[in-house]
Formats: sequence, structure tokens, C-alpha cells
Amino acid sequence: MSQTAVESLRGVGAKRAEQLRKVGIETTADLISYLPRSYEDYSNVQTVAGARHGAHAACLVRIADEPKFLRVRGMTILSVRAQDDTGIVFLKWFNQPYRRGQLQVGAQIYACGRIDRSKGISLVNPRLSATLPGLIPVYPLARGLTQRTVREVVKAALCAQLSMYDPFGVEFSERYGLMALMPAYREAHLPSGREALAAARRRLAFQNMLYYLLAVRHNRQERSRSLGYAYRTEGMEAPFLASLGFALTGAQRRVMREFETDMALPMPMNRLLQGDVGSGKTALAMYALYIAALNGRQGAFLVPSEILARQHMQSLAALFGDQACILIGGMPKKERQRALARIESGEARVVVGTHALFEDDVRFCALGLIVTDEQHRFGVVQRARMEQKAVRPDVLVMSATPIPRTLSLLLYGDLDVSVLDELPPGRKPVKTSYIRAEKRDDMYRYIAKCAENGVQSYIVCPFIDADEAAESRSAERVYADMTERFPSLPVELLHGRMSGRKREPVMERFRSGQTRVLVTTTVIEVGVHVAQAGVMVIESADRFGLATLHQLRGRVGRSAEQAYCFLLADGASEASLARIGAMLSTNDGFEIAERDLALRGPGDFLGTRQHGEADAALISAAGDMETLELAKRAADEIMALPNAQSNEILDDAMRRYARSMEHIAMN
Ligand code: ADP
Ligand code: MG
Repeated sequence: MSQTAVESLRGVGAKRAEQLRKVGIETTADLISYLPRSYEDYSNVQTVAGARHGAHAACLVRIADEPKFLRVRGMTILSVRAQDDTGIVFLKWFNQPYRRGQLQVGAQIYACGRIDRSKGISLVNPRLSATLPGLIPVYPLARGLTQRTVREVVKAALCAQLSMYDPFGVEFSERYGLMALMPAYREAHLPSGREALAAARRRLAFQNMLYYLLAVRHNRQERSRSLGYAYRTEGMEAPFLASLGFALTGAQRRVMREFETDMALPMPMNRLLQGDVGSGKTALAMYALYIAALNGRQGAFLVPSEILARQHMQSLAALFGDQACILIGGMPKKERQRALARIESGEARVVVGTHALFEDDVRFCALGLIVTDEQHRFGVVQRARMEQKAVRPDVLVMSATPIPRTLSLLLYGDLDVSVLDELPPGRKPVKTSYIRAEKRDDMYRYIAKCAENGVQSYIVCPFIDADEAAESRSAERVYADMTERFPSLPVELLHGRMSGRKREPVMERFRSGQTRVLVTTTVIEVGVHVAQAGVMVIESADRFGLATLHQLRGRVGRSAEQAYCFLLADGASEASLARIGAMLSTNDGFEIAERDLALRGPGDFLGTRQHGEADAALISAAGDMETLELAKRAADEIMALPNAQSNEILDDAMRRYARSMEHIAMN
């Protein structure tokens, strides 16, 4: 593949190159693979009267009056009245005085933009065009970049670089009904029509999905080169059960048997445990760790947040005493050194930790089992890096973000799956309601009342402070409101920008019941367990995906008391109302997952964590179930080849996607 720096393109200087670098673009090829996140559709004319509020529309209008300049708060607004046979629309531009020259009274022109019907009908900053513009790409942006810039430089890149290495040969592409790579990119950036665009995106989505599947398979195959450890499992159940404060459910017992069978075999366990929130997966993880430890091996328990690590550490310490150890990011150096030494000497049998466990200086002496909680939070390569710290370890991944069964069969087709489909006895399903904006005050009074009666609440907001999105309620704002309105209410704020050291005491006071209301963000999304919390309020619920909403709701209803979940959404779109509707109609995570799949499509389930938008656009190119199944077939085919390791497609997948693979996760 040719490596032409973006600086070689016309109109790209040092400054622009730097902005592009921020979104991961360095070469013309990077630009070409920088896919739009959506499209504005101006391929049909709409009437002024018929265009919906908020929708993108192309209207063929006649300029009715002389344009006027207004000055509002330092901005120059150019405004002109235009009309078609059905109505009047005001065209307005902010700080674009040069538009004046394009507006001749009586001239007919296409005005394209987002329709605003809040005061009369207007189009703000519309594009003007003599012909219908068709589909216009909308790119993910970074600071300093504008749509216009990205469109221009992408176009320049397409002109400068006419070919690109296509890992799919002609025969392969034909067999799977795929467009060739370069035409697909061209179509994705400069669509000629809906159908061609769909075919182009299908090709690109196919490739992303195939590469993902190949990377997963490849990693697994690498791992399965030697023999595993056969654990002794007899006689372990009784003492373990005795250490628990409750009797296991039938489903939990069944899964215990499955673990025992796997672990006793000389082949490594490779198991996915799927169980809805609150179904009791932690106890099962502990059992697997218990077996490992009693066999003289070490177990690692990988979790996605420090809060969760500390929480699990409490349970581990109860079972393993000082053979349990924790390793997280913000540990003081001395403490960390001590933990590392204990892990390396084997003194620590069970280690719970966050991403901090991946570090190179974390060395085990006999790592035999790796348990990953909330596995969707980790990238493929991250998990592989952990597995490299052991020789052919047993692997257990757990997920409570229910992945639709159909999808998990495709993505984890070669994992054994255990399903916890039974909740511990006595749980009442959480009662969920949708709260309209005008009822918000009543609801907050209710929360305060609950607090007086000893019932604790979480209030989750999508953002920490108002800067991030002025139109949503931020955690800081809700916290300020609550303290002002209810001065004697024990309320605290908890969010991810606080250090672990600051967070822990807050969490502890909530756990102990001293704090009654916790205003927070999705830091508490996964795994957090405070049994007596009875109310979950989710502000701007329209901003969260279904899986997250379900996870958040799962933080309550963890005791025999009736729990409640309140979803607030001010400016909810149709899609977000569908998500809220799903939440109102069922508490079953698997059903929610299937609805989620239907609403989002599978392409969206493969997302990236921690990385730039460029990767996100690359991965989440719209895909559908059919394309995914096709990709799965292709992956099966490639991995079954006698010389798979030298296959060009596999090679390309490992080479080009090595970096983003690290961050691919299930969303
Ligand atoms: P999750 O599957 O969401 O990770 P947890 O493992 O955190 O759920 O379990 C939720 C709560 O239920 C914990 O307090 C745990 O101790 C409790 N629990 C688990 N299994 C049982 C059971 N069989 N009977 C009663 N309580 C249980
Ligand atoms: Mg859990």
C-alpha cells in the first residue's frame, strides 16, 4: 500500500495535517478509510409545508425579498425570505456575509439543511445549490476540523490515490457478492445513490466484521497450541458452599458442574458465562478461582473499574484471606511494589485488578485461570495480553450486558456458553416508569422522602458538568440542585473524574447507608452492588443505549424490597423512545438484548473503547445480521484452509487492524 502523507495534498498544510493526526489520519490512505458516520439526504425535493421539524430537507425555493443583515450578540446574521408554492421559509446564515452575493431576488435555487419549525419555518446555514445535491457525507470530527474541510481533503485524497491494495481477490469478492475496495470507498464518500451506497457500506462492514472474527479466532488458535492443566475438583464444593451466606440457585449449581467438568479436563476451559444483572455470577467466578487456588495455581480476576475491583476484593478477602490481592491503577508505588512481589512469588493466589493487570511488570508464577468480569469492556488484544502471562490458562469470561444469543453465537461461536437464567429467590422485578419533564420536581421530592425513610437512591446523569452538553442535566447540576432544595439530605457526588482515592470513601458511605442519595454517572454502571439501594433515577435516559439502561437498572432490586427505576427524557427522539419502551415492557436482559439488536443492527455492537472516532467509524460502518453471518462464513472458510496462516486476508487483518483490535469491544 502506498504511504503518501496528507501534507502532499493541495490545501493541507502543517496545521491541517496536525488536526488530522488527532483523528488518526496521517496518509491519504487513512483519509480514504475515514468513513462518514452518517449522510444528509438531499436526493429528493420537499415542499416547505411538508418538511418535518428537525429533518434534513432540500427545498426548491424562489428568493422573495432583498436579504437583510442583522447583528445579534456580535454575530452577523444574513436572513432572506424565500418560498415555494406551499409556504414561506426563512434562510439564515451566521457569519457568512459572502452569501449575500448568491441571493438574487426572483432566482430559483435548492436550499438544503435542517428544518426548524420553532418560529415560523427556517433553514439555518443551508447549503445552496443549482441541482439536487444528493447524499452528503457527515464525518466524525475533532476540534478544529469542519465538515467542509474533511469533505474537501477526502475528495482530494480520492483524486490523488486511485488504487488501494484490496485483500479480497476477484474470486472471493464475487463469491461473497462484494464490491471491490476502491469503488466501495469512493461510493462511501461520494455516494451516487442509496443502493450503491448500501452495497459499498456492506462491503466495508463485511471486511470489518471479518477482520474482527479473524482476530478473535487467530488469538484463540495461538493459545491452543499446548496442553492445559487438569484440576482436581472433588471435595471442593462443600467448603465453598459453606463459606457463602446463601444457598445457590439451581442455575448456579448447574454452572458449577460445567466449570468442574471443564477444569478437570486437561484442555483449557474456554467458557462464556452469560447471566442477567444480579443473577449471581460473582459467586461462580469465586468458585472457579477457589478450585484454581486449592490446586496450587493462581487466578486472576479482571474487572473494568476500580470500584468493582475493590468490591470484589472484599468478597475475595473473606474467602481467601491474605492470599487475595488487589492491583489497580492509582495505587501508591510502595503498595504496588508489594503487590507485584506477592504476585510473582505466588504468595498471592488470587489477584483482582483492572487494566493495571496488563502491565508488563505484572508477572505471575503459576497463573492458571483468568476470569474476566464484564468482558465486553475489554478489547480482544487486551484479553490476549493477559493470557500471555500464563501458559495455556483456563479462561472464563462473564457478561451481564446481555449479548443477543444470535449475535453471541456468531461472535463467540467457539466458546462454550453457560447461561444463568434464574435470579436468586425473593427478588421482585424493578418497577420502571417514564417520567415527563413536568413531573421531575415531584419525583425529586419523592426521592427526598424515600431518603428520610432510609431508602437509598442513585441518580445517574450522562455528563459530569454542564460544559459537556448544555441541554442535558449534568451530575454537578443535579447535585447542586439537590443540596440547595434539600439542605439536610445526605447526598453525595461520585464520578469518573475523581481519583480512586476520592471515590472510595464516597462509595463506602453509600454502602453503609450514611449517604442516602448518590448523584453519579455511568461509573456505577457495571457490577456495583449496594443491596439496600431501592431507587434508580436516570436523567436524560434518551442518551443511553439499551444495554447501559438495563445495567443501570440492575443496580437496584438486589434485595427482597420492591425497587423502582425512573427514566427521564426531555427531548426524546423516536429511537430513544423505542429504547425506553423496551425498558418499560420487560426486565429480562436477554429480551432487551434482542430488542437492542433489532434497533441497532449488529455493526453497532462492535464498537471501540478509549480510541479516536476514526476507529469507531471504521468499525461501526453500518452492518446487518446478514452481512455478519456472511462474514462468519468467510472466517470459517479462511481458518479452515490448510495454509490459513499464510492467507492474505488473515495477514491483512492482523497487520492493518492490530492497533484498533486492541480497542474493539462489545458495546
Ligand atoms: P451479577 O451476576 O450481576 O454479577 P452478583 O454476583 O453481584 O450479580 O450478585 C448479586 C447479589 O446477589 C450479591 O449480593 C450476591 O451475594 C447475591 N447472590 C448471588 N447468588 C445468590 C443466591 N443464590 N441467593 C441469594 N443471593 C445471592
Ligand atoms: Mg457482576
